[in-house]
Amino acid sequence: MSDPIQQAKECTTSGSNIRMTRDRVSAESKLLINNGRTVDVNQLVPIKYKWAWHFYLDGCANHWMPTEVSMQRDIEQWKNPKTFTDDERHIIKRNLGFFSTAETLVGNNIVLSIYKLVDNPECRQYLLRQAFEEAIHVHAFQYIIESLSMDEGELFNMYRENKEIYEKDEFSMSCTDGILDESVDLKTVEGKQKFINNLVGFYVVTEGIFFYSGFVTMLSFGRQNRMPGTCEQIQYILRDESIHMNFGIQLINGIIDENQDVWTKEFQDYLITRIKKAVELEVNYAKECLPRGVLGLNVPLLREYVQYIADRRLEKLHLPKQYFSENPFPWMSEVIDLKKEKNFFETRVTEYQTGGALEW
Ligand code: MN
Ligand code: FE
Repeated sequence: MSDPIQQAKECTTSGSNIRMTRDRVSAESKLLINNGRTVDVNQLVPIKYKWAWHFYLDGCANHWMPTEVSMQRDIEQWKNPKTFTDDERHIIKRNLGFFSTAETLVGNNIVLSIYKLVDNPECRQYLLRQAFEEAIHVHAFQYIIESLSMDEGELFNMYRENKEIYEKDEFSMSCTDGILDESVDLKTVEGKQKFINNLVGFYVVTEGIFFYSGFVTMLSFGRQNRMPGTCEQIQYILRDESIHMNFGIQLINGIIDENQDVWTKEFQDYLITRIKKAVELEVNYAKECLPRGVLGLNVPLLREYVQYIADRRLEKLHLPKQYFSENPFPWMSEVIDLKKEKNFFETRVTEYQTGGALEW
């Protein structure tokens, strides 16, 4: 086990241990993890991992704030007892309850786990941006729940009261074991695998699978012009999340490339088992949200969709597909691919530029 204080020093280069030197950092010497052992961790440039820098720029170009979105129509619809059936109200509340705390779990894991262990400056630049986006997402759900005058205690406590949400969050949190408390040693294969498992648990499973039944069901309301303000925000969140996930997958694959000793058959099988378990939990969640079909959605379709996206995530990790399901919601890819031109549901232009677009 390495000395955690020494490890923390290597990661942060606190004021007391900046070394005076004329040796310049070369891009090739940089690493994704254990970078502080070879090069200064405070120099963004020269950039080695251009993808990380580009994800940072893309994140900034997509900047948005929840309070810019009007909730007026949502409020009118939510107050009107005729706009939603009980089943529809149930799905909306479950999704808002799930997301309201899941976004916080993701943000906490970035700041308390990932940021400490990924000590490459380009990646940290993106992680700082992502952490702020998670704060915006938490803000979005707070803003929606408050605007609709929902019971805040009920919604924010749902992850501890509803079994299906609890089990998804428990799965995510189990990936922080031994990582949050800094006992992980990234110089060992075991430590590196534990960290990769954390990255898969958050970027691939939480953001890449657990969020998606919620996205599909909520955006299905948007397609019928119901909850337009909520759905506009969910659309921005989905756009952010697809960048988060793509950054995460690139990071995971990059760490594996640089540390090939971690990529054993046992470890690959372990990750496949975990992803299959996550699919099961997501299907359980869909069943509880949707005891009867509504909005043209039902459990078999959601199962197919979750399996389809799980296969896509597996392929990106260079792992074998497990389900071979078709995409039952091709319109979802349109929402994701329709990058910035327009809100999918309305005609308002949602490409968002601040700062850089202002002329002085
Ligand atoms: Mn998020
Ligand atoms: Fe995210």
